[in-house]
Amino acid sequence: MQFTDAVVLESPTDHFAQRQPGAVLEFADFKRFLVRDGREHGAEYRFDSRATAPITENGSVVGVRYDGDEEVRADIVVDATGPAAPLAKQLGVSDLERQNQAIGIEWEMEGVEVDHPDYADLTDAMMLRLDHDLAPGGYSWIFHTGGDTAKVGLCYIQNEKYHSNADGMNIDDYLDQWLDSDPRFADAEKLAGKQHRGSAHIQPPNQLSTDGFVAIGDAVPTIDPLWGEGIHKGLKSARAAAIAADHCLTGTVDTSAEEIDVYDTLWHRDVAPDAGIRLLMTHLLYYAPNERYDRLMRDINAMDLDTLASANGGSLRAIAKLLHREDLPMLRDFVRENPEIVKRGLSDYVPLL
Ligand SMILES: Cc1cc2nc3c(=O)[nH]c(=O)nc-3n(C[C@H](O)[C@H](O)[C@H](O)COP(=O)(O)OP(=O)(O)OC[C@H]3O[C@@H](n4cnc5c(N)ncnc54)[C@H](O)[C@@H]3O)c2cc1C
Repeated sequence: MQFTDAVVLESPTDHFAQRQPGAVLEFADFKRFLVRDGREHGAEYRFDSRATAPITENGSVVGVRYDGDEEVRADIVVDATGPAAPLAKQLGVSDLERQNQAIGIEWEMEGVEVDHPDYADLTDAMMLRLDHDLAPGGYSWIFHTGGDTAKVGLCYIQNEKYHSNADGMNIDDYLDQWLDSDPRFADAEKLAGKQHRGSAHIQPPNQLSTDGFVAIGDAVPTIDPLWGEGIHKGLKSARAAAIAADHCLTGTVDTSAEEIDVYDTLWHRDVAPDAGIRLLMTHLLYYAPNERYDRLMRDINAMDLDTLASANGGSLRAIAKLLHREDLPMLRDFVRENPEIVKRGLSDYVPLL
């Protein structure tokens, strides 16, 4: 839809802007392109079909049951059904926990004032906003798609830490609350039917494959928890699965868990090499209160770009530069409440943990 050349981070009263090329996708067109491209490479699609269960023989997955009692057989079955993950769940490969579920909604809008005098200029930019009043335990965004149009969305982790039933608000209500209160949307309209909603899990995978089977994309889940980048990560996991399938089917066909494990190795090495620390950073980011977000903006504005890139890449030394003595009580409470996340996040750095 639009090439962008900046990323803006907003807190309740401050912001940070950085030059960074990007692209906002027309997601439906992108999926149609993938189907077209797949067909050109010999793929066959069955639309409006629902996979319901894996077919297993002698402990190995050999096909899929769909639409009642229809069956399709395969040397290797790939679950790419996103967080629904019906096959991966039944095989015990994926254990997606409700308390880690993040939900999101996005609308394409027109009439958005992308260069409002009270805010950063969002022309040709992707903006992510950290503000618990708007998205408790998550963030909201404006991605400019040209002229006065933008994709406007919001996502958050849907557990009781950030959301009590008492507020009676669902995600649509949160988005509407933002649209009603932010002057950039004073004359904005949602484009009819142009919405995208879904979920992903902010948790590490426990397993990625088994005999004759791999799970890719958010079935596992693969999404980068920190910035919600799921499309590129999903494509990378598909590429890793293709390499593993090629390995298992070339020469002597062997789709055993031991051979297909190439996928797990590639996933951890190339697709999400720093999953543990990124998960820790994500949970810590959502844990921080609104005032801390304003301080974070001041800190990253003062930081050199190399250190900032290192912090985003999970360097403990760079992350430490964003923490202060006053954060100690918050860090202590976070560690106390999230021992497993901390242990896993730091285990790459301190192998004995
Ligand atoms: C509001 C929102 C905004 C987002 N914005 C971005 C963004 O800006 N950038 C980014 O990189 N990522 C973004 N993401 C995340 C991204 O959309 C996902 O990470 C990505 O789509 C995951 O891809 P996937 O193929 O694993 O799963 P999905 O895209 O969820 O695709 C799964 C497919 O499987 C189908 N399916 C489900 N169950 C079955 C079944 N039983 N049988 C057959 N088919 C089934 C579904 O209908 C769907 O077509 C966003 C997500 C949301 C919700």
